[in-house]
Amino acid sequence: MNPMKVPLLDLKSQYQSIKEEIRTCIDELCDSQMFILGPKVDEMEQKIAQYCRTPHAVGVSSGSDALIIALMAMDIKPGDRVITSPYTFFATAGAIARIGALPVFVDIEPRSFNIDPAKLSLCLETMSPSQRAKVKAVIPVHLYGQCAEMEPILAICRKYQLVVIEDAAQAIGAEYKGRRAGSMGDFGCFSFFPSKNLGAFGDGGVVTALSADTDLRLRLLRMHGMAPKYYHHVIGGNFRLDALQAAIVTIKLKYLDQWTLGRQKNAAAYRRLFDEAGLGNGIALPEEIQNRHIYNQFVIRVPQNRDALRDYLGAHGIGTEVYYPVPLHLQECFAYLGYKAGDFPESERAALETLALPVYPELLPEQIEYVVDCIRRWKA
Ligand SMILES: *Cc1c(COP(=O)(O)O)cnc(C)c1O
Repeated sequence: MNPMKVPLLDLKSQYQSIKEEIRTCIDELCDSQMFILGPKVDEMEQKIAQYCRTPHAVGVSSGSDALIIALMAMDIKPGDRVITSPYTFFATAGAIARIGALPVFVDIEPRSFNIDPAKLSLCLETMSPSQRAKVKAVIPVHLYGQCAEMEPILAICRKYQLVVIEDAAQAIGAEYKGRRAGSMGDFGCFSFFPSKNLGAFGDGGVVTALSADTDLRLRLLRMHGMAPKYYHHVIGGNFRLDALQAAIVTIKLKYLDQWTLGRQKNAAAYRRLFDEAGLGNGIALPEEIQNRHIYNQFVIRVPQNRDALRDYLGAHGIGTEVYYPVPLHLQECFAYLGYKAGDFPESERAALETLALPVYPELLPEQIEYVVDCIRRWKA
């Protein structure tokens, strides 16, 4: 097969397909000179709430800030504990630490890469009552676009009266037993970082919320806790979303299901081609455990010589990425938490084995064939 370029992600062709619509909308906004919050943000919030099937949605400055503001809205304080997965993007645990609370890690279930409910239950059961009393919330992450095992997680959180904040940054539109990501916990945190399935033209995010009370609280915290103007009941921050980003997200939302379908078709093509090439033993493809995986990433496991495969593909023009090479409990900045290598074996193994292949919707069939062919040649 002739060499080709297959980037991990190419946003340019997607932009070309909606360019006119976006340019018109940007022009209108420039004419209005209304850049902060306003009707464009209101509209985006309504449409996202509808799409995620949640009663409320509040636009914020990023996915990272979505997590921070949700923790703030529940009054999580210094000294409190919040449980999450060590196998996620840094922001999940970073948000916990940023508000002064301590991240407590629970290992993942290896097939889904998401937090293991049995281990979550065990972690809470085996804590001393005084330690357990400090645990205030759990942040399950829907990694790569597939929901965590929410039913048992929600049951455990009800039992211990813990707040549930879904980190749905990679999972907009993903479903668990017919329920959408972000609609199951008390909060859902989404990111509009350009590489997410619904990306803005810069940073942005949204928090979905179950109750009207928390919705109000999020809105208050987003504007320095200010109500009315220049009167501050609580200390919030500037977590506002630009009107421009909201307007772009609203336009792109119309195409999201079509793009998701493209990703799912590409995932299916990989499955068929891997099968035909007899690559089944050795390399493991991502499993569809929940019924709407939106494939923010298509992540394979390469138990042996993952980095060599990555180099080989790179040399053949194929972009890949390792999400994530160092689990959070082994990050230098979290050394003070006292974890050590061996504490979370599944997360540590995933960090050594995972490799994300290009899966963006505009990939061409011949590009997918080329990727699989290169992997076949590397293995041979
Ligand atoms: C991208 C991401 C975030 C952070 O979102 P930003 O908008 O980049 O701040 C948080 N959690 C997960 C799992 C992510 O993938």
